[in-house]
Amino acid sequence: MKRNIILMGLPGAGKGTQAERITEKYAIPHVSTGDMFRQAMAEGTVLGKKAKSYMDEGSLVPDEVTNGIVKERLSQATAEEGFMLDGFPRTLNQAKALDTIMAELKTSLDAVLYIDVPAEELKKRLTGRIICRGCGSTYNVNSNPPKEEGTCDRCSGHEFYQRDDDKPEVVENRIKINIEQTEPLVKFYEEKGILKRIPGDIGIDNVFQHISQIIEE
Ligand SMILES: [Zn+2]
Repeated sequence: MKRNIILMGLPGAGKGTQAERITEKYAIPHVSTGDMFRQAMAEGTVLGKKAKSYMDEGSLVPDEVTNGIVKERLSQATAEEGFMLDGFPRTLNQAKALDTIMAELKTSLDAVLYIDVPAEELKKRLTGRIICRGCGSTYNVNSNPPKEEGTCDRCSGHEFYQRDDDKPEVVENRIKINIEQTEPLVKFYEEKGILKRIPGDIGIDNVFQHISQIIEE
């Protein structure tokens, strides 16, 4: 099924899981920013080389390079199967650049899927992650706890720790920054009439059912 969609959601909203399901059921290629960069660098394209030089310096890759890489990748994708963009656009400028790219490729976006989860719920999900000290297995005390409380399924260890990134203050700040970043994009696509808000706190299967309805529309 050829669809041009953007998948959006704050960290912890379950974007990764839904992306996997969408690709599985509809064979729409999952185009993530990370993969696009890796591909461009591996193929040694002009833009890939440019991006690499910025990354090697530890500086941010400028928009024109990122946008160029997105265009390269989407021009391969649109004709056949469409795409599901993930991690792009992140800013209003990038969203506008994407409009230009779409116009140049003589295609358009079908929908922007926004998996909407209340900040409180996200905080609960993101602070629930624990890691086994023995074998590194990852669990979530809310959504994916060990079968027996306090015992690792894999190595039977009893010691777990939390990454600094998953501590409440850090998580709260990350969510806040992401909301600030996402709001203008949500508004932008809402005004275009292509934003589809999907309640993200109704269970993985129900979320996917919502998404399926929209894709098949
Ligand atoms: Zn373990």
